[in-house]
Amino acid sequence: MATNNIIRLKRGKEESLLRHHPWVFSGAIVSLPDGIEEGDEVTVTDSDGKVLGTGHYQIGSIAVRILEFGTDSLPADFYYNRLLSAFILRRGLGLIRPDNNCFRLVHGEGDFLPGLVVDIYGDTAVMQAHSPGMHFARRTIAEALTRLPEAGIRNVYYKSDTTLPYKAHLDPENEYLAGSYDGNIATENGLLFNIDWMKGQKTGFFVDQRENRRLLESLADGRKVLNMFCYTGGFSVYAMRGGALSVDSVDSSSKAVALTDANIALNFPDDPRHHTHDMDAFRFLSEMPADTYDLIVLDPPAFAKHRSAIKNGLVGYRKLNGKAFEKIKKGGILFTFSCSQAITREMFRLAVFSAAAKSGRKVRILHQLSQPADHPVDISHPEGEYLKGLVLYVE
Ligand code: SAH
Repeated sequence: MATNNIIRLKRGKEESLLRHHPWVFSGAIVSLPDGIEEGDEVTVTDSDGKVLGTGHYQIGSIAVRILEFGTDSLPADFYYNRLLSAFILRRGLGLIRPDNNCFRLVHGEGDFLPGLVVDIYGDTAVMQAHSPGMHFARRTIAEALTRLPEAGIRNVYYKSDTTLPYKAHLDPENEYLAGSYDGNIATENGLLFNIDWMKGQKTGFFVDQRENRRLLESLADGRKVLNMFCYTGGFSVYAMRGGALSVDSVDSSSKAVALTDANIALNFPDDPRHHTHDMDAFRFLSEMPADTYDLIVLDPPAFAKHRSAIKNGLVGYRKLNGKAFEKIKKGGILFTFSCSQAITREMFRLAVFSAAAKSGRKVRILHQLSQPADHPVDISHPEGEYLKGLVLYVE
């Protein structure tokens, strides 16, 4: 077996690795070995040569993502064993049931597989590599996925055209690494969803809002619901089942609006309570008459994708939430989210608070929401927490 390239750290730079934070920043490295290539498996040592762990090397500010601590090589069947333990966790969480067959199987660092995301829809796994190392391991991972006992994974779709660092010049092709499309419809908490992993955003569906959708369902009875940034209409379908008087779904993408229409038709064919609007969210909120809705969902795309965009992102959240506070009915409920990893829970709460204060409405926090248990956060890697939400009662 080939031995790994060794990457030696500067004195004192081993601290975070000893606490099992999986990232090695480029500034911590003494020098890179000759001939090292992006995606290589490397062994990281402290300045005295003591082995700290083994991981994937890549060019950029995060130079190594550690896969296994305290060893100079990955154990046999490393990927299979990590995937198996991820699967056992999901099964133990009660996510695999006849009425629920979609969930996140691998959440990067949260499953000790930095750089890898896998979502499951029935018998199909949709896999995304965020690091060159995971890209090169993709076939091994796909094969291991199909071997997981009881998981029943037959198809593995690899979709990394937008997730790999563009500087790596890997030009990944989206393709099936096992099986092929056989038209499965996913079931989430008993509701049906057409999932377009080939053309849709990310892996085709946002499984991370599953529990928050269920909470919305429990509050929808007798309310007029507005679902902004609806994408596949997840919140809308739950609101319908929860007994909403009416549901309006808004998205500026005509493809998203068509997906929402299809998912409503799948669960509530010919139900006159639902309407879609292909429109910009800010414009819709500005033009709609006040006091129309008493349950509003704001689940926009990440307004701050990087730390450099935090300031503008917060302006966006203030503006968006301000419009909702201005228009929501008295006694209304607002579900508001941020999925920007760079924006902390506190920053988001402050932005929403500023908007509430400016509107003059009396606002109380009913629930503080987060990502679900199939998106776990490694306690050594707090950066893994990204989804934040507030459920507010607006008087
Ligand atoms: N709430 C969804 C996920 C939202 S993803 C769910 O539960 O699955 C973000 C969505 O916002 C995308 O569908 C995108 O098309 C839409 N979007 C982005 N900018 C928008 C804008 N300015 N106005 C309306 N929709 C927008």
